Amino acid sequence: MILSAVLGFWLAYAPIYFSEDPPEKPTNIILVICDGMGLSQIALAEYLTRPPSSLAQMEVVGLQKTHSANNLETDSAASGTAMSCGVKTFNAGLGVDADSQAVASIMDLASEKGMKTGFVVTSSVVHATPAAFYAHVYSRAAYEAIAAQLVESGIDVFAGGGERYFVDRYADDTNLLQVLEDRNYVVLTSDRTVGNNLKNIDPEHKIALFTAYEDPERASMGRKYFPDVAIQAIEALEKRADKGYFLMIEASQIDWAAHANSPEWLALEMQDAYDMLDKVLEKVREDENTLLIVTADHECGYMSLTGKRSPRVKFHTKVHSSQMVPVFATGPGAEEFLGIYENTAIFDKMKKLLGL
Ligand SMILES: [Zn+2]
Repeated sequence: MILSAVLGFWLAYAPIYFSEDPPEKPTNIILVICDGMGLSQIALAEYLTRPPSSLAQMEVVGLQKTHSANNLETDSAASGTAMSCGVKTFNAGLGVDADSQAVASIMDLASEKGMKTGFVVTSSVVHATPAAFYAHVYSRAAYEAIAAQLVESGIDVFAGGGERYFVDRYADDTNLLQVLEDRNYVVLTSDRTVGNNLKNIDPEHKIALFTAYEDPERASMGRKYFPDVAIQAIEALEKRADKGYFLMIEASQIDWAAHANSPEWLALEMQDAYDMLDKVLEKVREDENTLLIVTADHECGYMSLTGKRSPRVKFHTKVHSSQMVPVFATGPGAEEFLGIYENTAIFDKMKKLLGL
């Protein structure tokens, strides 16, 4: 009798008092996309960084295949859509499947479930990779239509360039910054100091931070905001979320530097991405509930490294390649990202882990 009472107590309370296992499923996901970053771009940064880098500290590594529905060499729209919506589409398609039908994104699903959503980029906010998470259009070049869809999306916190698509429009005279304010956003425009502290903004408000009127400048030209704003976005989402958050962070210009075949620009964009990752990983380690995934959407430049003592960058094209790209993960559910899989599986795994 006493034994069964003790056993009953044990069975009822043991999981609470004696479980030291970390949670198996994340409450929050931070997906970092380093646009155009293949293994050679990572190798360059690893040779230039004192080990172990943040990437080297992430326990899980997998590989994803990046081809689109109609091309082994994907563009950022199709590969972004694969990761955000779980479908292969044609190059240039955003948030639509290969038949041009709109498909719900992980951000759409997360916000339907009451999670908070956000993104921070070093491109314009209407560029292909961020737009894959909220827009549904046939062509990535429809920047003004994409800006209008961002306003409609209800994303809680976003930061990047491209303010002009909201205020200086060919299609209409609408001031979309005003519409954002009408929809409870605090809008921080690019004529104010970049790196505005988001901390002091009342959590009742959403946040739109424009870091540039056009595209943000290159890291090599003095762009500084990325690591700080990434952390501020995480903290702003933490403050606003009671059912978790999904944040996408894109190091956008690694790709642009590779298209330009510029080793110096590329090295500084990789350094900026690594500085951001150092801060984000440190932040993620503070809690047990956040899954951090770091990957790329494709490689760019068919890049390789040569040299005997120090690495020299050699580009073989000015376009994207069909190489697989690595996926690094740490936190609850990270082991899901082991192995070799399609880029669409990133969406499937995140959706499963968040129970969406
Ligand atoms: Zn590109």
